Amino acid sequence: MWFGGGWPIYLERPRDNWARPPDTGRGRPVAAGASAGLVMPVELGHARPNRDWWGAVLNGFRLRCPACRRGALFGRYLKVNEACPACGEALHHHRADDAPPYFTILIVGHLIVGAILSVERAFLPPLWLHAVVWLPLTVILCLALLPRIKGAIVGLQWALYMHGFGGAADSPEPPPTSARGPV
Ligand SMILES: [Zn+2]
Repeated sequence: MWFGGGWPIYLERPRDNWARPPDTGRGRPVAAGASAGLVMPVELGHARPNRDWWGAVLNGFRLRCPACRRGALFGRYLKVNEACPACGEALHHHRADDAPPYFTILIVGHLIVGAILSVERAFLPPLWLHAVVWLPLTVILCLALLPRIKGAIVGLQWALYMHGFGGAADSPEPPPTSARGPV
């Protein structure tokens, strides 16, 4: 029996090696030995093309749809669009959760703390000057980076077919079997 597209996989094959299925002459081959019950062709799983994850991350960082690079990823400041307004790609599957603030704090913290220490060591400015410079800069950097990092994470999840981006329904993680963890 032939199940449609693609070459069949022979789970069990006759002894005459991996013979090409004989052609019926009507343009559609029939699996060898199928009538004798020796072979069971099954359809290949849905092959998914590899997505350019780095390009998707960059597009997300630019606040653009990772699929088409044109549509806006966000409807509001941090609200990801349900679907891309340009290409219609479903974007609501993302589960960025608290990863964007984590990476934002990580990056901004290293930048600002490094800069404060360097400036302090080089120029010994008064404390009020530190406060006037670094506090607003920290806020501005956080607000500027947060949606971009969220976009990059959504792009990565899209490129790796994570959660619902692969077409399958996303299921929550099962609860841990023991509150005390593995023994
Ligand atoms: Zn798009």
